[in-house]
Amino acid sequence: MNVLVINCGSSSLKFQLINSDTEAVLAKGLCERIGIDGSLTYQPEGGEKVKSDKAMPTHTEAIQFVIDALTDDNTGVVKSLDEIGAVGHRVVHGGEKFAKSVVITDEVLAAIEECNDLAPLHNPANLIGIHACQKLMPGTPMVAVFDTAFHQTMPEKAYLYGLPYEYYEKYAVRRYGFHGTSHSFVSKHAAKFLGLDLKASKIIVAHLGNGASISAVLNGECVDTSMGLTPLEGLVMGTRSGDMDPAIMEYIAKKEDLDIAGVMNVLNKKSGVLGVSKNLSSDFRDLEEGMDSGNQYAKAAMEVFCYRVAKYIGSYAASMNGVDAIAFTAGIGENSGTVRKMVLSYLGYLGITVDEEANKKRGEDLVISTADSKVKVAVIPTNEELAIARETVALV
Ligand code: AMP
Repeated sequence: MNVLVINCGSSSLKFQLINSDTEAVLAKGLCERIGIDGSLTYQPEGGEKVKSDKAMPTHTEAIQFVIDALTDDNTGVVKSLDEIGAVGHRVVHGGEKFAKSVVITDEVLAAIEECNDLAPLHNPANLIGIHACQKLMPGTPMVAVFDTAFHQTMPEKAYLYGLPYEYYEKYAVRRYGFHGTSHSFVSKHAAKFLGLDLKASKIIVAHLGNGASISAVLNGECVDTSMGLTPLEGLVMGTRSGDMDPAIMEYIAKKEDLDIAGVMNVLNKKSGVLGVSKNLSSDFRDLEEGMDSGNQYAKAAMEVFCYRVAKYIGSYAASMNGVDAIAFTAGIGENSGTVRKMVLSYLGYLGITVDEEANKKRGEDLVISTADSKVKVAVIPTNEELAIARETVALV
């Protein structure tokens, strides 16, 4: 079956058409600047990437252009919509309502809408994408795959904050976690790749991308994760602060004469390694170059980032009473041997020894610990689209 995977943002939409039997990506692309002017980037398997400007006042036009490209006589990869068996939609927040992917029905749409408050930038955009697809592809089954679902197995002690309990009851304030599709995919794949029994394993997944999070996966189930009510908590990220003393908010608001929205803007967009590096970059390629050429702020940003990752790995090893494997994934985790080396330099006490040569490679499934290392360390490229396609096929 061919599955169309859709990841819809407020003004952009990423898509892949995946053949679920061979797991080949038949075509992929991106619509950008929806509601502003609009452009479509489209690449069929083995073909050239082509970008063209198209007027996209709404997501419905964007999806129509995607369908047109997929069924085009010259560059298309299917003859008609009949060859698309299902659509898998990434949905950011499923709250406590969704612990698994689900086939989309009117009740499901209403429940996703009820979670809008928890992800006001993302869920409404995800819903717009679903509605547009339903309009253009009536009769094609659709599945929602949630970023939060994998983390719903966390125990209460891991998801409750040290806040008045009524806030949880009245406002659903708790840890939810994100990147769940990636943490699920990578933990399963790491167990298989490393020859571990997933149902009897302790795995820590470090999803290190522009947004970054860590999870503790015990016997195949998530028991803790670093992101919280929102994706701002946890690791120091590209532009997000991650954990900090909450009192800093009031202090900075007074010093810089900012309101709550102004402070949140700083924490989300001007902090992280971008802020620590004095705005050098949020991209680790630039930071590594900066550190190598003696830029003290680039070095500070790299060190703050890696130290935080190492602290989380240590705390999850404690919460699971041990760890069998650590898996690095996402843009930084897959590509930066320097970051992996700096993180692992703190973890000798766990009996980890690094295979320096293997750690220099990137972008493929790799074991980067030595044969006698007590904890196996791997690099596992994540593939959220494939994970969404698999979940979708399993449900339809
Ligand atoms: P993601 O959010 O998973 O797409 O990751 C994007 C981030 O990965 C970029 O902002 C870079 O910081 C990082 N990245 C990508 N390629 C490399 C590389 N070759 N070396 C270091 N960092 C990289």
